[in-house]
Order: sequence, then C-alpha cells, then structure tokens
Amino acid sequence: MSNTLLRIAIQKSGRLQEGSLALLKESGLSISNGRDQLKTQARNFPVEVLFLRDDDIPQYVEDNVADIGIVGENVFVEKQKQNQLIKKLDFAKCRLCLAIPRSENYTGLKWFEGKNIATSYPAIVQQFLNKNNIKAGIHEISGSVEIAPGIGLADGICDIVSTGSTLLSNGLKEVETVLYSEAVMIASPQLSDEKKTILNKLLFRIESVQKAKNNKYILLNCPNDAIDKITSVIPGMNSPTILPLKREGWSSLHSVVDENDFWDKIDQLKSFGAQGILVIPIEKMIG
Ligand code: ATP
Ligand code: ZN
Repeated sequence: MSNTLLRIAIQKSGRLQEGSLALLKESGLSISNGRDQLKTQARNFPVEVLFLRDDDIPQYVEDNVADIGIVGENVFVEKQKQNQLIKKLDFAKCRLCLAIPRSENYTGLKWFEGKNIATSYPAIVQQFLNKNNIKAGIHEISGSVEIAPGIGLADGICDIVSTGSTLLSNGLKEVETVLYSEAVMIASPQLSDEKKTILNKLLFRIESVQKAKNNKYILLNCPNDAIDKITSVIPGMNSPTILPLKREGWSSLHSVVDENDFWDKIDQLKSFGAQGILVIPIEKMIG
C-alpha cells in the first residue's frame, strides 16, 4: 500500500468552513475538527485536511503545499494563480456587486467613469472595468468596504452582497452584478498520478452526494392502467420498480425524481390517478 495522501486545504474559520467539512464528511471521510488544529488526517481515506485562511489557499495550492483547496470562486478568480477550477460545489453562493450612494442618480456603467471604487477584489473589478471600457480608480481595502463612500474614501464600492441589508444601512444601493460565486474546488495543475487517483475517487463520491441532493425517492400507488403514463413522467434511474398491491388492479410504483421539476410532476402524477405519494430524501446516488 502506498502512503500517499492528498492534501486538501479548507477555510480555518468563516463562511466556507462548515460547508467544506460537511461535504467531506458526506463523502464518507471521517475527519475530526478539533478547535485549534492546523491539520488532520482522515481515518478512512488517504486525505490530509489543512485548515488555512481562505485568501491564502490559492497560493498554497499553486505552491503545492496543498494539492487541492476549497475556496469561493471570487477568491479563485481574484488571486489569478496557476490553478484549475475542477468542481463547483453548490454552496456559499453569493454575488460580487457594484454599489453607490442611494442619493446618486445611476445612469448606467458610465456613472463609474473617472470615479473611485473601494474593494477587496481589485483584479476582478479591473477586469470588469476593462471589459466595459470604463476608466475608474480602484482603491483596495481589506474589510468594511461598505463604509468607504460614507467617509469620503471612494465614490462607490464593489463587494459581496447577500441580503443587501449591509448596503442599506450604509446608505448604498446595488447597481451592477460583477460576478456570481459559489464554493469551488481548485487543484494544482501538477498532481502526481497517485494523487490524481485519490482525487478522482473523492470527486466520484462528491458527485454521488450532489446527485442525491438534487433527487428524491418517490413512492406512489396507482391503478395498473396508469403505470405507462406515470413511467413516462418519472422514468427513474433505469426504470421504476412496480410491486403489486393487495388491492386488485393496483400497484405501488417506486422511482427517482429531480427536485427541480418535482412540483410540476406531482400535479401530472395526480392527474393520472396516483395516490398516497411519498417523497423521501436520498443520501447517496451512484450510477
Ligand atoms: P476573512 O478572510 O477576513 O475571514 P472573508 O470575507 O474572506 O473574511 P468569509 O466571510 O468567511 O471570509 O467568506 C468566505 C467566502 O464565503 C467568501 O469569499 C465568499 O465566497 C463566500 N461568502 C461571503 N459572504 C457570503 C454570503 N453572505 N453568503 C454566502 N457566501 C458568502
Ligand atoms: Zn477570507
């Protein structure tokens, strides 16, 4: 047996930490996260987890201190390191937005011409301005960006917006979305074949968890003559399971349904005579 470990960097504390750990645990990795720990080894999978400041993770991955990392797409794009985005992870969704004082009359992007923008994301903002042919100054600050206009440091800001209440309480309004972001897995482009093998196993598990989250197990009772119509609506992974009910002419049908079009399908199923519909979460989904 080889002793190779895949080193995964995740955020030490903050908005990404819980989701990152949950993802690894749902993928079957047994990880202890003691408080002041800097690294820990999974007990049942060849992985070592490093707890780092999220902003440092792209650099560590580029330097091969870590092999892969979980960061916000905003941080991945901002840092411009030699890393690959290998998977979007469907949590920590947020937007990077431009905002200006509420009293301003916003006429479109031209408003920013010649203005100063405070942000923690200078590279992303510069790219956005270049793309839109706007010349504006960028003032990099690392925190409390939203107070910048109020204290005369800048005319507008570019920052992460989730609810907008921080903007509101600082007298700002959102005017443009610069980037949509979610947690992503990034990897060094130079992984050994052994590490790639471990990574592929991990990705396979993550995909099973993600697929399961987007699907539900569905059970229903229906008259036998409705089975074909119902099967066309919820074909499942291969084809539904049909079990006879004791009641003459009726069956129990089991299948899998995509969460996104779930409610539309329920209406159709009911119209075909389905009864006693049960919908159950799935933990893992393979193949
Ligand atoms: P620091 O590094 O100083 O701890 P940070 O802003 O980088 O601060 P967090 O606030 O923990 O750290 O945010 C980490 C990441 O989580 C961000 O880079 C972003 O991708 C995502 N994020 C930030 N705010 C939100 C939000 N309100 N909702 C969802 N995701 C968010
Ligand atoms: Zn950070």
